[in-house]
Amino acid sequence: MSSTEPVLSCRNISKTYGNRFTRGNIRALDRASFSIQEGEICGLVGPNGAGKSTMIKLIMGIEPKDEGTVDMNGLDPRVALGYVPERPTFFEDLSAYYNLLYFARLTGAQDPEGTSRRLIDEFGLKGRGDDRVSSFSKGMKQRLAIARGVVHGPKVLIMDEPFSGLDPGMMIELRSLLKALKTSGMAMLLSSHELNEIDQLCDSIQFIKAGRIVRREDLDRPKARAVIQLVLASPNEAVIGVLSRWSALSVSGDRTTITIEAPREEIPDIVAEAVRAGGRVMEFRPAQVKAEDLYAEVFQAEVRA
Ligand code: ADP
Repeated sequence: MSSTEPVLSCRNISKTYGNRFTRGNIRALDRASFSIQEGEICGLVGPNGAGKSTMIKLIMGIEPKDEGTVDMNGLDPRVALGYVPERPTFFEDLSAYYNLLYFARLTGAQDPEGTSRRLIDEFGLKGRGDDRVSSFSKGMKQRLAIARGVVHGPKVLIMDEPFSGLDPGMMIELRSLLKALKTSGMAMLLSSHELNEIDQLCDSIQFIKAGRIVRREDLDRPKARAVIQLVLASPNEAVIGVLSRWSALSVSGDRTTITIEAPREEIPDIVAEAVRAGGRVMEFRPAQVKAEDLYAEVFQAEVRA
């Protein structure tokens, strides 16, 4: 990431739904705060009803917030944000090109005609730009929706459940498309239940629970550090003893799996120490901090209930 200044900061965002005609109020967001850096892909993760869609609508200005601020270093969020809704709609009887051109003009994009043509090609729709959108598959429509979201060159692209309803092939395509967008420095905020996609795509996760951001986790650890796992044939206290010099060490409940985060150049020492201490190493593997494990940790009460 090229800058330490956040490209999007949300502070103390609150929203209550309901009025004097409804039975009780729903506190959809309760002083939720988070920020995103340039080029960061951030996942917004939480159970249904946690407030993800509300957060996105409030950032986009689609609904008014009760309190809080959305700051983009002084830029106008209406210009500096791009948006892909969960269920994008198009002018189905018009061409993909015209759909893009319409948005390009509406958002004041530079060279609307040229940009629309270029995005058709870049988003894997080459040769289909003049076809009606009604003839497009779901995957093609999703790519067109993202092209439309970036037609004006936003700083941050916001997507509500972009993977919902896509088959595995479409998910792989979409993932590589979003990774390509990231290389241009664009930041992204995406809500999703697809924790595997979050693992593969995101640099960070904001966990949202009952309208509050309860945890932020960085997934893009420095390359100089590695997380590895040793699986032993049987529990071995001596191995755990010698490996405890690596402070970031955790041991599974049955004491056969040892997870260590350590500088990459110390990996050979870890293996050598384990064997020297009499450990019978069955497996040695790189381990990743998984979004699913973090999810279980954060929402444990709900998962158990
Ligand atoms: P998520 O996207 O995480 O599933 P939402 O942001 O859609 O959660 O909803 C958060 C809470 O706000 C839920 O309790 C939901 O029922 C409520 N809510 C969302 N939109 C409205 C609305 N327009 N009117 C009343 N309540 C709403």
